Amino acid sequence: MQRNIFVFFSLLIFIVFPVIGQAASFGDRVNTMSKIEQIRISTADEKVRIVLDASKPVSYKTFVLSNPNRVAIDIKGAWLSPDIIKETLVDSSCVGKVRVRQFDADTVRVVIETNVSQNGYEIFSLPANANTSIYRIVFDFGDEQKNLPAVVEESPSTLVVPTVAIPNAMPGIRGKTIVIDPGHGGSDSGAVGTKGIMEKDITLAISKQLQGLLTDAGAKVIMTRTSDVDVARPSAEAVEELQARVDVANRARADLFLSIHMDSFSSSDAKGTSTYYYAKGTPASQRLANLVRSGIIEQLGTEDRGTKTCNFYVVKHTTMPAALAEVAFVSNPGEGQLLTSTDGTKKAAQGIYNGIRRYFQ
Ligand SMILES: [Zn+2]
Repeated sequence: MQRNIFVFFSLLIFIVFPVIGQAASFGDRVNTMSKIEQIRISTADEKVRIVLDASKPVSYKTFVLSNPNRVAIDIKGAWLSPDIIKETLVDSSCVGKVRVRQFDADTVRVVIETNVSQNGYEIFSLPANANTSIYRIVFDFGDEQKNLPAVVEESPSTLVVPTVAIPNAMPGIRGKTIVIDPGHGGSDSGAVGTKGIMEKDITLAISKQLQGLLTDAGAKVIMTRTSDVDVARPSAEAVEELQARVDVANRARADLFLSIHMDSFSSSDAKGTSTYYYAKGTPASQRLANLVRSGIIEQLGTEDRGTKTCNFYVVKHTTMPAALAEVAFVSNPGEGQLLTSTDGTKKAAQGIYNGIRRYFQ
């Protein structure tokens, strides 16, 4: 009997203590956390405003998901009121379901199904209202905000800090930041082919055509150079020059980086199109390289030399999906002649453009 009582109390200790421990730490945590108390959704003229009420200032980060397109917001140091409505279907052409849930111990995640692009929505925070001490995170969807119900204290708060920029994963070229890098330039002619044709001139001609096509499609295009110059400084060293091109893309937080080159070989027989991506790069870079290569071949009818991995500086050190295209051979008389013609550079640019368009589909 004595022994049975001992066993009973031992079990009781094992069972009860972890529960008490959790309850205490949850209580402590909750006191320091922000309670997401309410989600309010209003629609007006096909525009949607979603407001989250929080008991304390919070930090949040936003990101974009696809299939279906969603904007997601992780609110740190927050817990969800049990009373909150967790799923709402919004009757609007630009916003579908809005879901909110406790993602982990201190993160509340809001996911909004939407078909608007990065330019079509805005997320900002508002400080506590003097009367209610409620902090708000506001999501506005739709092109213009002026018809939405007014929210007092319109100035964004410094109390709620977005921690990362919003990556643009929406499909389509429109709104994308694309960095085009015409290979070589200035003191560096690149490969020199038959009749003295220079790689740096062909890469610039193709890049300018491509810039036009992408700009017409609504992309923000940034060129590492638009004339016959070194990018870093006149007569820059090779690594310095390449780093300058990488810097352009990384500073712009571009969605895509493409370096355009012409191939060359000791034998004038060598010909065809190849693309490269960094050997330790992402599947996105590989996909980009594949699509650009097939796009070029479709337009120019060049031989397929494949997509290859590499250790090239510009695709290695850029922080976004990146590829390098060797469009054709300057050392091959036929391809050299084709790529010095306006028709040839136009076709090459169209092929690269088609590849980029497919990449963003
Ligand atoms: Zn080159």
